[in-house]
Amino acid sequence: MTVLRSQNTLIDPTIFDEMDQDHSWHPFTQMEEYCSIPQLQVERGQGCWIWDTEGNRYLDGNASIWTNAHGHNEPDINEALAEQLGKIAHSTYLGLSHPVGAMLGKRLADLAPKSLSRVVFSDNGSNAVEIALKLSFQYWQLVRKSEKRIVVGMENGYHGDTFGAMAAGNSDSFHGRFQPWLFESRTFAAPKCSEINGIVKHSDSDRSLLQLEKILEREASEIASVIIEPSIQGPAGMKLQPAGFLKRVEALCRKYGAHLILDEVFVGCGRTGSIFACEQEGVDPDFLCLAKGLTAGYLPLAATLTTEKMYQAFLGSFDTGNAFYHGHTFTGNPLAASVALKSLEKLERLIGSKRLEKTIEDFGQTLAETFNGHRNVLDIRQRGLAAAIDLFPGSSRDAWHPNDRVGMKVCLEARKHGLLLRPLLDSILVVPPLVINEEEIGFLFDNLKTAIDAVMNNIGN
Ligand SMILES: *Cc1c(COP(=O)(O)O)cnc(C)c1O
Repeated sequence: MTVLRSQNTLIDPTIFDEMDQDHSWHPFTQMEEYCSIPQLQVERGQGCWIWDTEGNRYLDGNASIWTNAHGHNEPDINEALAEQLGKIAHSTYLGLSHPVGAMLGKRLADLAPKSLSRVVFSDNGSNAVEIALKLSFQYWQLVRKSEKRIVVGMENGYHGDTFGAMAAGNSDSFHGRFQPWLFESRTFAAPKCSEINGIVKHSDSDRSLLQLEKILEREASEIASVIIEPSIQGPAGMKLQPAGFLKRVEALCRKYGAHLILDEVFVGCGRTGSIFACEQEGVDPDFLCLAKGLTAGYLPLAATLTTEKMYQAFLGSFDTGNAFYHGHTFTGNPLAASVALKSLEKLERLIGSKRLEKTIEDFGQTLAETFNGHRNVLDIRQRGLAAAIDLFPGSSRDAWHPNDRVGMKVCLEARKHGLLLRPLLDSILVVPPLVINEEEIGFLFDNLKTAIDAVMNNIGN
């Protein structure tokens, strides 16, 4: 056990566990369970690795909840951050600007699909989505089509935990109990796609697109927008969409006059191999939401990109009241903006040099080699640097009881083998930093397999 030195006092790190148990309330966490299992206090990070206060090292297999791009404690990003810190840490974006904010707005507009030229900043993914929903809602009022208010979302969609994001999403297990407080929305079936290492095992978009078209056809005059997470529904467990699906959703939105909102909070900023997932299908949305990877896992920052047409509709004299009244205290924070600028620069190099492409190949190949045919693996889905491994008891039973917490047990066992991961029920989600190297990918899947096998042995599967 290492002992932390704070000023001149020696601190026993277990004291933080006590403080945590007594006062913290962690998100997406059953605290009764949390307090009964070994705790982990993260002390520092370097590259793709994290150290706890006891001195143990772990590979960051979920990129600190899907955010980290270039590694922890990255010198170039640290330098950009320190440089901005030496100037000013925060200044409001309400009626004022700052150079890093202005530059980031331009950078994002330059990189984004050509339809998108305006950027509204905020500080998390849920807010980026709320802003898109509210801009769309207000836009239809401004152009005298205020009956267009309904939002259409896809089955299993997750867009965040604020009210609009919950209403647009379809995460029943997370948000079902808040249903009576949510605005009305419509849902269409998700397509099916099983893919690993670029090989599609099966896929089907027809039912999904038919349902979407039926909803749009029936209610076009009342539908404001269609919102989806393009390419991968991350929080739903890496549910994939077949190639070409997004382009057809875009065509339907155009045909029936609905805004297309793309929630790229998870898939954006390099996760699928390109800066934006929608680039891969040449789709021009009305809104594009970014957060998680935007600051490479450093600071909270989000952006909602939209069109010039949207922006123009809100212009007018003060007394029209047409300004967009949604903002947050830390909107466009300069520290976060400076980090995002540096991260995008590095991301462009990572993509331009083909390094990201090669990493994705290694990742998919090693994953397939390690787990294809494993007796406890029901399905694997992988695209870009994102994967889900669905576990099941093998031939004996269809599924474990939720209280068996098999996914959680695997992740706890994986910690003993130097891996930090988070499960989604009995599915293991793997989302490493974009700069993970070949050796680290080997370490990741080797040790994950060891952990899975150990748990299966233990529970008699
Ligand atoms: C994480 C996530 C969100 C919510 O972002 P927060 O920053 O947690 O509010 C929204 N959409 C998707 C697809 C996400 O993965």
